[in-house]
Amino acid sequence: MIAEEPVRAAPGSIRTEPESPLVDVMGGSARHEIRVHQHGFVALVDVMPRLVPEGKTADAAIVQAARVSYGQGTKRVNEDRGLVRYLMRHRHTTPFEMVEFKFHMSMPIFVARQWIRHRTANVNEYSGRYSIIPDHFWMPSADEVRQQSATNRQGGEEPIGDASTAEAFVAYLERAVSLYPEYEQLLERGVSRELARVGLPINAYTQWYWKCDLHNILHFLELRMDAHAQREIREYAEAMYALMEPIVPVAMEAFRDYRLEGVTLTRLEVDALRARLRGELGVLGTSNSREREEWDEKRTRLGLD
Ligand SMILES: Cc1cc2nc3c(=O)[nH]c(=O)nc-3n(C[C@H](O)[C@H](O)[C@H](O)COP(=O)(O)OP(=O)(O)OC[C@H]3O[C@@H](n4cnc5c(N)ncnc54)[C@H](O)[C@@H]3O)c2cc1C
Repeated sequence: MIAEEPVRAAPGSIRTEPESPLVDVMGGSARHEIRVHQHGFVALVDVMPRLVPEGKTADAAIVQAARVSYGQGTKRVNEDRGLVRYLMRHRHTTPFEMVEFKFHMSMPIFVARQWIRHRTANVNEYSGRYSIIPDHFWMPSADEVRQQSATNRQGGEEPIGDASTAEAFVAYLERAVSLYPEYEQLLERGVSRELARVGLPINAYTQWYWKCDLHNILHFLELRMDAHAQREIREYAEAMYALMEPIVPVAMEAFRDYRLEGVTLTRLEVDALRARLRGELGVLGTSNSREREEWDEKRTRLGLD
């Protein structure tokens, strides 16, 4: 096989690809925003690639990167789709890192604390040392107050049955929020912003710009759209998903098919499943109660019970 001569640009010249016209994946808009809760929002403010050949989506950047490894081959749209789905199924990572999303978001501090644990994003946050914290607080209604779960020590999904307890919780938050005028007064009396803010509750809102590549955002979404994540951060993750879907529809569909709504089995679970298919009881080969609960959940999802 004869290697093709590399095409070199003449000094001072710019090479342009003879492609179809380019279109903006955000449709010419600077911001796509979804409101979350009373005061929060997730706004998509930029994407890389921003411009793609007409008729394509930003999925094209995933395909473009992958074809460096796999060669040009054929390039029909359905084959591009197949390639993205193959890459997702086989947990390839770097082609998905070729797409980036930049968001502007506002969320309660207790949500931001969980969010910031995701270390692969670039973040620029509102400074409560430099600026006054706005008078915005996350407040649930009494019927949104959840009781502690008996099985999941970290969570609670069911509403608290007792109305007076729900009202007591709301009153407790209202008392915390009622500190805000004191915060303002202390600022007026010359207390530094960096100190005055520390008495405010963590249902106060912060905001940031958050930029991350698609591979790491999908990891974030997998963890934070999961039923084990706190509902309030889940609502943000769902808003992100909704904003990203039209930009990389093929990747998001593959993510839903192979990861978000897929079920991964451990070796012990495969053994238990095989035993069941042979007509045996199929008990999981461990006494670990958490692992057994996880197998119960998976069996329910698989419709085995
Ligand atoms: C339901 C739930 C409950 C949680 N409960 C707790 C809790 O009780 N206490 C607590 O402290 N945290 C808790 N967390 C946070 C959790 O432990 C992780 O810190 C968080 O989800 C970020 O995950 P990550 O490190 O995989 O993601 P990212 O920081 O986004 O990193 C993505 C991936 O990049 C790689 N990576 C990133 N940085 C490094 C590094 N320095 N070295 C090597 N590899 C790296 C890893 O492969 C990682 O998975 C919880 C998370 C969830 C979803």
